[in-house]
Amino acid sequence: MSDAYDVVVVGAGFGGIGAAIAFRQLGYENLLILDREDDLGGTWHVNRYPGLTVDVPSTTFSYWFEPNPDWSGLYARGPELKAYATRVAEKYDVRRHMRFNTAVDGARWDEDESCWHVALAGGDTVRTRFLVCATGFLSQPAVPDIPGIESFEGAVVHTARWDAEHSFAGERAAVIGTGSTAVQVIPELAKDVDELTVYQRTPIWVMPKLDVKFPAPLRRLFARVPATQRAVRLTTDSFMEFLMVVAMWRYRTFRRLNGFAAQAAGVHRFASIRNRALRKSLTPSYDYGCKRPTVSNGYYRALNKPHVTLDTAGIERIEPHAVVGADGTRREIDTLVLATGFDVWKTNLPALEVIGRDGRDLGKWWRDTRFQAYEGVSVPGFPNLLTLASPYAWVGLSWFNTVEYQMRHIRRLFGELERRGASTFEVTEAANARFLARMEGLLEDSVFRLGNCASSNSYWINNRGEAPLFRPTSVRDAVRTQDRFPLSDYDFS
Ligand code: NAP
Repeated sequence: MSDAYDVVVVGAGFGGIGAAIAFRQLGYENLLILDREDDLGGTWHVNRYPGLTVDVPSTTFSYWFEPNPDWSGLYARGPELKAYATRVAEKYDVRRHMRFNTAVDGARWDEDESCWHVALAGGDTVRTRFLVCATGFLSQPAVPDIPGIESFEGAVVHTARWDAEHSFAGERAAVIGTGSTAVQVIPELAKDVDELTVYQRTPIWVMPKLDVKFPAPLRRLFARVPATQRAVRLTTDSFMEFLMVVAMWRYRTFRRLNGFAAQAAGVHRFASIRNRALRKSLTPSYDYGCKRPTVSNGYYRALNKPHVTLDTAGIERIEPHAVVGADGTRREIDTLVLATGFDVWKTNLPALEVIGRDGRDLGKWWRDTRFQAYEGVSVPGFPNLLTLASPYAWVGLSWFNTVEYQMRHIRRLFGELERRGASTFEVTEAANARFLARMEGLLEDSVFRLGNCASSNSYWINNRGEAPLFRPTSVRDAVRTQDRFPLSDYDFS
């Protein structure tokens, strides 16, 4: 007989920690949190590349219910996030429920027993009444399919699998990719290497960064009078909310304001780079907001350095000791850094095989029909399942916005389940269809539908041209809805 739990959460990142806190607050003690890594923190445990920094203001990038007065500045460093995850998990006593080095292969709903059977790599199974998939959107590192890459004889380092022992001092290195991660890692690598080539396929919008440190007296004030930090948060929350709503969701109305964001990035580029050709190569040809923009004061400066080269010709192949460009340029290198991001569409939605009622396969169903999940958390045909990295789940630029509205959803849903003395819940087909129709309607006003995103190569858009990762609403809308959604949207039994 396999172990039996009330709740199994897959993933011990900020999403899994938040869900576990919500269940603890609801009184669930028989709780198991599984993670394939050897410690908690998710993204912030796995990513350890030099320069790792949060690129959303830290006051916003944290749980509302757990402000952290210790952030070193407006943009905290990666290890601070990891320390924060540990502190929160310990304070809310969810760490003791975690089991590490445990990959989950899949989960299957058992109609007769009204429970999920969760298959662990290695052959063990656990049973649970409620299953929560908190596997994040960015958990499967993507390795590019470039001819010859497997023949490369130097070191190959993906940014999400950083090798801290590897020294770049005096090396010739190449970075593939110019997303948010590359923008952070390139200035750091440029300090160490003899030669650095950056292979850019699509330029990224880069805004200047208000990189202010929080001096010790200010941090003490935040600790003694939390309202002061809340006031800063109110400002950073409002700014991020404004940016996202205006630049992305209300593009039909605020197209010109979207243009201002692009102009601000243009001024930053102009102020940072004197070389006109380089500036042109770094200028995106798609609208601001089609693809994740970022902030940096060091990226353009690094690309100005004489030992750093931006290559935009494209990569034709990789040889045992060199990268060969589509224009025939052959560059000998010692180390290849893959800042190539994550696979979202092929292996991450969902990140494990989930088989629901009547053998419905979640990943297949999403692909055969539409990507859809009611309020970004539940799916018809999948009783007692909460899937947190779902279509239309992601709201706001801070992941915590998503985690916290989902915690609210859990509290309301499980409060009702308890009140009725029920043991299963399942969202109705009608409620799911209504929510999907609302999301698709809202997307009609977005930059994805009305803007020029054709050349963006954005992982926010799938190969059908749909953009169903984000909930195209304000954070405020997402939060309010979780306190009000009709309880009749669920069947309870
Ligand atoms: P990403 O945004 O997906 O960027 C991957 C880069 O690799 C892109 O420039 C892509 O080019 C390039 N690439 C992929 N395959 C390639 C190939 N075969 N040949 C050439 N280039 C290739 O990944 P990321 O930079 O790791 O960022 C992922 C997400 O992580 C971000 O959007 C953000 O949400 C998150 N992040 C957050 C922070 C934070 O501080 N909060 C920091 C870093 C990252 P194309 O654009 O042409 O596909």
